[in-house]
Amino acid sequence: MKTIKDKDIYCLIGNPVSKSLSPTIHNSYFELIGENSIYFTFEIKEEKLELILEAFKILNVKGFNVTIPHKITIINYLDEVSEDVKVLGAVNTVRNLNGKLIGFNTDGKGFLKSLEMEKIGIKDKTILVLGAGGAANAISVSLAMEGVKSIIIANRTISKAETLSDRISSYFPKIEVKYDSLKLENVNKKEVDMIVNCTSVGMYPNQTESPIDIEGFKENLIVYDIIYKPKKTRLLQLAEFKGYKTVNGISMLINQGLCSQEIWLGKKDLFFLENFEKIRRILKNYIE
Ligand code: NAP
Repeated sequence: MKTIKDKDIYCLIGNPVSKSLSPTIHNSYFELIGENSIYFTFEIKEEKLELILEAFKILNVKGFNVTIPHKITIINYLDEVSEDVKVLGAVNTVRNLNGKLIGFNTDGKGFLKSLEMEKIGIKDKTILVLGAGGAANAISVSLAMEGVKSIIIANRTISKAETLSDRISSYFPKIEVKYDSLKLENVNKKEVDMIVNCTSVGMYPNQTESPIDIEGFKENLIVYDIIYKPKKTRLLQLAEFKGYKTVNGISMLINQGLCSQEIWLGKKDLFFLENFEKIRRILKNYIE
């Protein structure tokens, strides 16, 4: 019989971490695939980050996720990072390979995987990304890597939209990149094939708000809101009312977790769809 002392340890570090769904996702997944592992959350202050990474090496913590405020600063303490982290400048997954800490980012991959599951093609499309924070960065870079035609970044703080737009242009010169405020005064709405909301507008305490005016877009628009709680944000409600295809953030959340698992376990597509559905059912109790 398996005992707790034999278990491999995984965790999430950040501050705050108490409301994270990661332990539910990862512990459910370990159970589903019969992996003798356990996932904790650790609230780590910024000044303790280096120390905790040394402790993880000593304790042989096999892998961990990273959230705010460590996603960027952790890069200074890692032994290696993946190619997309070099473009993104942020890490959300670390694998401890025999004492060597290697950083990855699965946010964008989780997003792309969710598009694949929804059968949404993005090649040669024009995508309007709302927001310029961590998620918007990861998603915009993934969209660029997938070869979209054009990306428009719209953000409340326009200087951040400009910075992200410049970053994408410098790495992906063939992709047309523009930026604007959330008023979208310089955006030709009829050109937009998909909107991806990466702002926190729609979440508590802004549940009754939409980040943009949804009027004036083309008929077959796709509206993707990466928020998963509430399940149907104001933006998605308005989009649904207009007859647009809508997607919420739950699939991205599960998929980025499963992408972390693939990195930690060094296995590809381990019962991917079957386990995805099982985890989605488990999360329903926490989200709805
Ligand atoms: P972040 O780095 O803090 O960025 C927040 C973004 O929201 C910024 O662009 C910010 O604009 C904008 N914003 C915040 N309050 C606003 C307001 N009142 N009006 C207009 N814009 C506002 O956060 P993040 O990590 O990118 O996360 C953003 C959202 O994505 C959160 O809701 C998070 O839960 C969700 N998310 C979901 C997943 C998933 O797996 N489904 C993964 C990651 C994140 P300024 O630059 O002007 O401040």
